[in-house]
Amino acid sequence: MDINFSQVPSSITEKNSEELTTSILIFKAVRYRWLIRFGQVALPWVMWIPGVKWAIRRTVFKHFCGGETLDETKKIVERLAAHRVNAISDYSAEQADTKEKQETTRENILASIRFAGEQHNVPFACVKITGICDRPLLEKVSKNDPLTDAEQQRYADFYSRLDALCAAAAEQGKKFFIDAEETWINPAIDAAAEAMMQKYNRETQVVYTTIQFYRTDSLAYLQRLIDTADYKIGLKLVRGAYHEQENDRAAKMGYPSPVFPTKEAVDKAYNDGLRLCIAHLDRVSFCAATHNTESTALLVALMQEYNVAPDSQIVSFSQLYGMRDNITYELAGRGYNVSKYIPYGPLKETLPYLIRRAQENAGISSQMGEELQMLINEKKRRKERRN
Ligand SMILES: Cc1cc2nc3c(=O)[nH]c(=O)nc-3n(C[C@H](O)[C@H](O)[C@H](O)COP(=O)(O)OP(=O)(O)OC[C@H]3O[C@@H](n4cnc5c(N)ncnc54)[C@H](O)[C@@H]3O)c2cc1C
Repeated sequence: MDINFSQVPSSITEKNSEELTTSILIFKAVRYRWLIRFGQVALPWVMWIPGVKWAIRRTVFKHFCGGETLDETKKIVERLAAHRVNAISDYSAEQADTKEKQETTRENILASIRFAGEQHNVPFACVKITGICDRPLLEKVSKNDPLTDAEQQRYADFYSRLDALCAAAAEQGKKFFIDAEETWINPAIDAAAEAMMQKYNRETQVVYTTIQFYRTDSLAYLQRLIDTADYKIGLKLVRGAYHEQENDRAAKMGYPSPVFPTKEAVDKAYNDGLRLCIAHLDRVSFCAATHNTESTALLVALMQEYNVAPDSQIVSFSQLYGMRDNITYELAGRGYNVSKYIPYGPLKETLPYLIRRAQENAGISSQMGEELQMLINEKKRRKERRN
């Protein structure tokens, strides 16, 4: 039987009525771009108003995040395990502009790696580099600007933090994703990720870097890695979460946008990336981190064509918590290696993440509409059963 993403996932049927109503409201609200834009600007300023934090915590935060602490995500991890879904605990701090905050992020991620070591269904841990290094420094390194002595020291501290995280993942026998961010800081992130892959991916992939296929140079970068790396390459393939910011900055500063202008071009690059990776499994292990049903179905077909077992450890799938459970549960039900990224952390720290999810959901129409429709149908079904 062909893979079918139209089945209602049990995560929807298991929701209580309050959760169901909240999810419907969220998916309806995020369709209004003006509301997202307003929230993006206003939220950081209105957080102190009594009731605002409470409301966010009960709605978008609860829907898209696993909780404020690692411990709170535990129940979700166990619930996913019951459905053969893996989990990735993602400490979502990404504005760490002081040494103190960067050390806190490092400690939290180390805890999530130790937690992964105790759980059979947590194969990966992950880091967003802006949680352990400040943006101005990453930007300076990305531009090849000379660093002062103090900056060189701060950069060396960042490398030690990252190295400690990769070493901990290797020690626990877990994989470690390094997330991709905006193009003006990503050259530094790519360089750090490549250095870590060089060090830790000798026998097998421990460290995975991320490629964003909305970038016009993504396929060339992937090809260069395949052609030149003298280590095992670990990759997370995404479309990219900062499309609007990339275009806005390029327009403001007067340089050509580094991202494709159309969704079709991004989809083509992503699918070409899948084809290129699966043709090089001798050196590449990868995770298709996507909510796109066509790309997911394509990879399922490619796995069959290349005789890759569904539960293979070298090819996997991943979706974000609170999104596209119909894909996750269908893949898990058919024995594929699929995981959920579960962001967690203090509410204030997760705001940029929540805003990105809202923006992204406003950007997609049909697939997100399908998810909303499933929620509405479930509500109707329950109402009819009661009558
Ligand atoms: C497990 C996981 C990990 C992730 N990690 C990262 C990460 O490290 N870094 C990162 O940047 N993102 C990351 N993302 C987010 C990801 O990049 C996408 O934002 C998100 O998954 C939506 O893309 P999609 O493949 O699911 O497909 P779709 O929903 O089909 O595509 C939406 C994406 O297409 C692109 N797009 C939309 N409209 C247009 C347009 N008009 N023109 C051109 N392109 C357009 C954008 O990239 C948009 O995000 C991650 C996602 C997942 C599921």
